[in-house]
Amino acid sequence: MAVGPRRWGGMWDALPDAARSIVKELIIHGPQSRTALARTLHLSTGSLTRLTKPLVDAGLLVEGEVVHDPVNGRPTRPLDVAAAEHRFLGLKLTGDRVHAVVTDLRAGVIAGRDEPITDHSPEAVCRQARGLLDALAVGPPVGAGITLGGNNRASAGVGGERLVDAPYLGWEQVELKPLMERALGVPCAVENDVAALAHQHHWFGPGRGLRDFALVTIGAGIGYALIVHDHLVAASEADLGMFAHLVLRSGGPMCPEGHRGCAAAYLSSGSIEAAAALGLRREVGYDEVLRLAAAGDQVCLTLVREAAHALGRLIALVATVSMVKTVVLAGEGVELARLAKDDLDRALAADRRDVPGSVNVVVEADDFREWARGGAVVAIQSFVTGSD
Ligand SMILES: [Zn+2]
Repeated sequence: MAVGPRRWGGMWDALPDAARSIVKELIIHGPQSRTALARTLHLSTGSLTRLTKPLVDAGLLVEGEVVHDPVNGRPTRPLDVAAAEHRFLGLKLTGDRVHAVVTDLRAGVIAGRDEPITDHSPEAVCRQARGLLDALAVGPPVGAGITLGGNNRASAGVGGERLVDAPYLGWEQVELKPLMERALGVPCAVENDVAALAHQHHWFGPGRGLRDFALVTIGAGIGYALIVHDHLVAASEADLGMFAHLVLRSGGPMCPEGHRGCAAAYLSSGSIEAAAALGLRREVGYDEVLRLAAAGDQVCLTLVREAAHALGRLIALVATVSMVKTVVLAGEGVELARLAKDDLDRALAADRRDVPGSVNVVVEADDFREWARGGAVVAIQSFVTGSD
């Protein structure tokens, strides 16, 4: 029997947007009294009580122990989301591995697992995702979010589904969402991996509470995402490609596309490995380059310092053009920013006219599982907003 598109939480359909705002506020900022919530969301306490009752009845919201209300001092039972009772699957697909995590409603990781991709056909990858979910043995999730570096085209395929291009998986115009929904049996959302990571930082990371910030990721590729006025700025693969190949210094090292001194030429792990191999006269992996740099090897230290300097210039450019005050650095290459932070800071300050503290740079942990967690966050957001 054919199965139609799955929907996010049937109970949502009858509820107004204000109910979604309450859930979102509690997910992001934690438990609050009804008076505090009403004040934050510009609702009357009567409206708030009316809106939250069905959510409490449905088990999505719970009441905590009695405390004194910080607003009026009266005894009250703060509201919270039933975070542990709602689980979400996050998947990140690379060219050779599928990474999976199951999280609670606040994106806290409950379990994780990853495997090499053995068969790259979309159907086989979806079957493998189902196998991973079963192996994690945490029961059926509310929904799943799948992230990948390919283009998630806005153009519609059969049934209006968005089409996915992922050259590194050999995928062209794949209707991933319905395929994955059939395999997993739950609603799914598909998102670009860097965009998903930005959503994660916005709701659960250093971007929480910020209306504007930028995310720069460094690793095999250079990624960029921009949150402005609480919303992610939509970007095409072509836009993001432009960012990765911004020329930071003419006459610098060359990237595989023939640009001299672009961001990818200085910062991508492949470029750094190639330059290190030239200096060391042997093949060398990215992790070893960082280890050697930390130990004082002149070839690797020079490369890491040049990369950090380029990163400082890139951050200055982002902050100046987009006018954000916070730039989050993430991805498997962030260690170079820690190793040569002085070089990064000097380049950033010089390009920001030596105004100290004009940009807050937050360096995140180098943990590949964060990409899969970004997928779970996309699923959580789809659940709360009812769209994907
Ligand atoms: Zn380039």
